[in-house]
Amino acid sequence: EAIIFWFRQDLRLKDNPGLDAAIASGKALIPVYILDDESPSQWRLGQASRWWLHHSLSALNKELKQHYGTELILRRGSAKTLLPKLCDETGADAVFCSRQYEPWAAALEQDLHHLFQYRAISFKRFAGSLLFEPGSILTQAGGPFKVFTAFWRRCRSGPEPALPLGLPKAPQSLRTGLASDTLTDWQLLPDSPNWAAGWETLWQPGAEGAAQRLQQFLNAAIDDYQDARDIPAQVGTSLLSAHLSFGEISPRMVWHATKAKVAQEHSLLEQSNKFLSELAWREFSHHLLHFFPQLPQEPFKAQFAHFPWESNPTALQAWQQGQTGYPMVDAGMRELWQSGYMHNRLRMIVASFLTKHLRLHWRLGERWFWDCLVDANLANNASGWQWVAGSGADASPYFRIFNPTTQGEKFDPQGDYIRRWVPELAGLPNKYLHQPSKAPAKVLEQAGLVLGENYPLPIVEHSSAREQALSAYAVARESF
Ligand code: FAD
Repeated sequence: EAIIFWFRQDLRLKDNPGLDAAIASGKALIPVYILDDESPSQWRLGQASRWWLHHSLSALNKELKQHYGTELILRRGSAKTLLPKLCDETGADAVFCSRQYEPWAAALEQDLHHLFQYRAISFKRFAGSLLFEPGSILTQAGGPFKVFTAFWRRCRSGPEPALPLGLPKAPQSLRTGLASDTLTDWQLLPDSPNWAAGWETLWQPGAEGAAQRLQQFLNAAIDDYQDARDIPAQVGTSLLSAHLSFGEISPRMVWHATKAKVAQEHSLLEQSNKFLSELAWREFSHHLLHFFPQLPQEPFKAQFAHFPWESNPTALQAWQQGQTGYPMVDAGMRELWQSGYMHNRLRMIVASFLTKHLRLHWRLGERWFWDCLVDANLANNASGWQWVAGSGADASPYFRIFNPTTQGEKFDPQGDYIRRWVPELAGLPNKYLHQPSKAPAKVLEQAGLVLGENYPLPIVEHSSAREQALSAYAVARESF
């Protein structure tokens, strides 16, 4: 008898309830990963996520070898076709996996459920990627929460998430000798050009890298998380997002490690509550996606369906390439391109700039992030974009338009972040760093800058862009 454990966005051995149950079944274990670009259709993994996936699978494989003496079976294609085929090939009579919340993934789980039921194969999906399952946190009326603070209050009023599971003991038997693709076959890494050169020094995909990040965070940045989380020049946050998106660490491992730290150091209570509330935004976004599966495509607030979005490929390209002439925006966009990550404060600034100053549809930004972020995650990305655009649940109102210059002055006062990502501005004094176009000719010359040549002039003027955004919003409201 054999059992397939189908790894998905849960690339870890510890605290993986489905894997635990598969091993406990006593059947010969077959660990499988399927690169399925068909089922997600337009939401198949983006380029930066593919880079991460390659390294994450390689790390998981190493752990499987080290702990259990087995290897991942890699297959590429539609999971709906390949899983039943694998059952035929191996004689497996059970398939276990962790649940996912993307609409396409939920539909796939449903299809597999019917398919396997018909073949008398036991198909079980387990919770393991969230602290609270959708449906377990509901309003008094029994519906989903649309306001974060009320959602979070309800989460905290119930029982704590269960303690994480440890490393499962070795399976009683294994099925070996099965055909498998190799990671190299999948060509997940970029080559010409290799835009991910040097990323290995920034990121360590896999459970070990995730555990290290968590420890580093709990040993240092948590002390000042509430304030430092807004300063992009510092490492003020956990940098756990991609590890969480790929499931290399579970949210309850993060939750309980944080609680344990506070039990030792009570003074961290407030800081840790802020951190756990950010983790709860991840929960909120996943619950929203579960209840409103159209979230990645459609505005949550219906009146935004009438918003007069612009079409401007030149402006979109300037934004994507970090060439808007607004140093803070350009720094954020270049951090994204060069590292696969962008600080949360910058995500808000660049998203506001795209949807308000340029009045380009938030879906264009969502798509670009999807391709460029190593932590690209359908729920968090869709809810993040809709939050900034003003169309989301509990969103920042559309009329709250970030001024990219003052945001830079406030959150990067010494200009360290801008100088790191927009090095052509490095020679400008702080006074003009956030607004090079205001610098006197002599200052520009001393800094080696020729605006319009080696750094762009602002592609839009802030106050008129702001006025136009507000008028467009008024049109959208009236037409509703
Ligand atoms: P920390 O501050 O250390 O937070 C800990 C964890 O909490 C994060 O790893 C993340 O899982 C979760 N979290 C934190 N903030 C948020 C948030 N606002 N919404 C949901 N979860 C949150 N996050 C993604 O994981 N994937 C995305 O594709 C994504 N796209 C975004 C797009 C926009 C326009 C915006 C404004 C935000 C987006 N976020 C996304 C949320 C947030 O920016 C990142 O989760 C965060 O910057 C990751 O850094 P960190 O792990 O150091 O965060």
